[in-house]
Amino acid sequence: MAKIVGLTLSERVVAGLVVDHKLLGELRSFPEAHDDEYALVELPAEGIADVMCEQVLAAAGKERALAGVGVGVPGLVRNGVVEEAPNLPQLKGTRVAEMLETRLRAEGIEAPVTLINDADGFAAGIAASLGKLDTVIRVWTLGVGIGYGRYPLTAGVWEGGHTVVTLDDKENYCGCGGRGHLEGIMGHRAMRLRFLDMEPEEVFETAKTGDARCMDFKKLWHKALAAATATSIHLRGPGRFFLAGFNVRFVDLPLLKDYLQQMVKMSPLQSYSVEIIADDRETRVIGAAVSAEKAEG
Ligand SMILES: [Zn+2]
Repeated sequence: MAKIVGLTLSERVVAGLVVDHKLLGELRSFPEAHDDEYALVELPAEGIADVMCEQVLAAAGKERALAGVGVGVPGLVRNGVVEEAPNLPQLKGTRVAEMLETRLRAEGIEAPVTLINDADGFAAGIAASLGKLDTVIRVWTLGVGIGYGRYPLTAGVWEGGHTVVTLDDKENYCGCGGRGHLEGIMGHRAMRLRFLDMEPEEVFETAKTGDARCMDFKKLWHKALAAATATSIHLRGPGRFFLAGFNVRFVDLPLLKDYLQQMVKMSPLQSYSVEIIADDRETRVIGAAVSAEKAEG
């Protein structure tokens, strides 16, 4: 059975040894939960590659015959290169796959490294956890920004969080600077920019009291997600959509489905579903490994 190390890179590097789409042993993390959460963010690209190598070695244990290593990175990745990484800007333009392969070779591990977008890795992990590796899975992650992941992995770019969902000229809160984007409405950072006097939690609480401004925003927030999902359905067909991330707490599923139903009318496109799923490190690590396995064929 092929042994693959899955690794995800965000505020932490988390790695685990995956065999037959299941975790074997413990997850490894740097920094560890109780350590300085900025330890990684402050490292240069070379230092991050060193940490990734250490964590792969720790996850592999005595195992040296790895079939591959899958690495999930938040950002736009292509051909083993990080082309854009807003939260880890030092990685922009870095040949991460090559850097890690070189380091692992020096430690006696000859394994191809597959670099993927972390949200795509998460989608692969969800597919594996459901035992549905033959179906199309899409996931929205609602956090500081808005992530969009797809499984199965195919070549190309899909920055779903930047789907244009409004033509309103005033909608310019997206982290990328683009106008009318989903993330500019739904992203945590964008919500704080919009409501300078209220935290996002307060906005959704106040909406319950009937406050017009907050109620309008709650509707806009759900319409935006429905619009981006409808666009994905119109471009890629129906299927299962998952919602995850710390801001799924704001999701009113019946309201979202109502808007979606108003936006998707063609009968062959009706077989879609929207579900909320827990976001955990294990699913993401397994997904990174599954993506590496599929990429290696
Ligand atoms: Zn954007």
